[in-house]
Amino acid sequence: ELANMMDVPATDVIATCMNLGLFVSINQRLDAETMSLVADEFNYKVEFVSAEVLDAIETEEEDDPEELTPRPPIVTVMGHVDHGKTSLLDHIRKENVIAGEAGGITQHIGAYNVKLDDGKRITFLDTPGHEAFTAMRARGAQITDVAIIIIAADDNIMPQTKEAINHAQAAGVPIVFAINKIDKPGASAEKIKEELAQMNLLVEEWGGKYQSQDISAKNGVNIEELLEKVLLEAELLDLKANADKKATGTVIESSLDRGRGYVATVLVEAGTLKIGDIILAGSYYGHVKAMYNERGARIEEAGPAVPVQILGLNGAPQAGDKFNIMESDAEAKDIANKREQLQREQGLRAQKHITLDEIGRRIAIGNFQELNIIVKGDVDGSIEALADSMIKLSTEEIQVNVIHKGVGQISESDILLAAASNAIIVGFQVRPSIAARKLAEKEEIDIRLYSVIYDAINEIRDAMEGMLSPDI
Ligand code: GDP
Repeated sequence: ELANMMDVPATDVIATCMNLGLFVSINQRLDAETMSLVADEFNYKVEFVSAEVLDAIETEEEDDPEELTPRPPIVTVMGHVDHGKTSLLDHIRKENVIAGEAGGITQHIGAYNVKLDDGKRITFLDTPGHEAFTAMRARGAQITDVAIIIIAADDNIMPQTKEAINHAQAAGVPIVFAINKIDKPGASAEKIKEELAQMNLLVEEWGGKYQSQDISAKNGVNIEELLEKVLLEAELLDLKANADKKATGTVIESSLDRGRGYVATVLVEAGTLKIGDIILAGSYYGHVKAMYNERGARIEEAGPAVPVQILGLNGAPQAGDKFNIMESDAEAKDIANKREQLQREQGLRAQKHITLDEIGRRIAIGNFQELNIIVKGDVDGSIEALADSMIKLSTEEIQVNVIHKGVGQISESDILLAAASNAIIVGFQVRPSIAARKLAEKEEIDIRLYSVIYDAINEIRDAMEGMLSPDI
């Protein structure tokens, strides 16, 4: 295709690739960088129209530091099932009714904002769990500033707890631990802290860097203390935004409501969203007709880190889609239509993820410094051995990271993490679930299955040395 577009023989393109140290076949997909390099050799310049249309529109001009004002942190609660995520979110929703703001939070709009006694605010994403968190990331939206990892003190650190920790860490999001159910007989917060220590996660009382708070989500014990620690963590991030410009942000959820039409909850990241704005979200657009907050009250505008439900879109965008404010209906419609057309033509995913075959080539071009791997296996011992050996494959040029390792079959959440962190998945004596396999195909995630540790290590080493023959 590239050869056709440039009107040169395909063999010339292949020869040029070879000169660049890339051994490609005639029907191999080239990535953006390679295409640019090759086209350059033939005196062509590549313009990526599709990527441009699909990506968030860069309306972002550099903000003057003086225009930036502090904004509330956006927080996600994660943890093992039944450890208390919902109870914690419910308690905060019910108890932290803002002084002076009438009415409790009655609506589930996907996120809510609370004001603490000292006037500080926090925005909570109301869909708990690392799956939702990582699904958003896989769609290119990282909106969480701080993660609360909740662990029941009458239980142990469970596989999903580990997963949640790894997902937060892979995203580079700071963690505050909430050790829950301390009211229960037999609960031991100390035991949990010890288990964390064994995972190299030292809490502050033990001389480490992680803040943790013993709580009872059900009885509302120590919740304020927990939120103080979240705010402390957020302060270190020095979160700021310019409220004085057209809004940009992310779709949290959306649906079709009988009578009201399409309803979407968006989280403003920067700028201020106003009634009447021409909004473009994913492949839909419209005028913002009305806005509601989590208390069901009509509002006129929403600033940074404020979640708001809007009416007026002509369809339901997906969670994780970015939104922008456009100058004219015509412009919004034009981009929305182009996006829709592209999605029809090539499926939703425009982003290509790394495969083992590609690694050598990408290293040769010099644009690949980190190889992220997720290791799943049947027993702990072999997973540790495999993960250790892989990390040791790191060279000066390329750092190998094991971003998640765990016992059990390869799950959908592993695929999402791989998509969000551009990782490959290595399965040792385990296979993906059917759902995971389907998702992996859709997201184009490379899954490698092995039954001999030695084979796994050799293949990855070969790939890094560019010696793996590409699949044709
Ligand atoms: P999730 O699956 O993580 O969202 O967990 P839930 O919030 O649904 O809680 C699971 C169960 O644990 C429910 O029956 C809660 O009532 C109970 N639970 C949650 N927090 C506490 C707590 O602090 N103390 C006690 N005793 N039970 C709790």
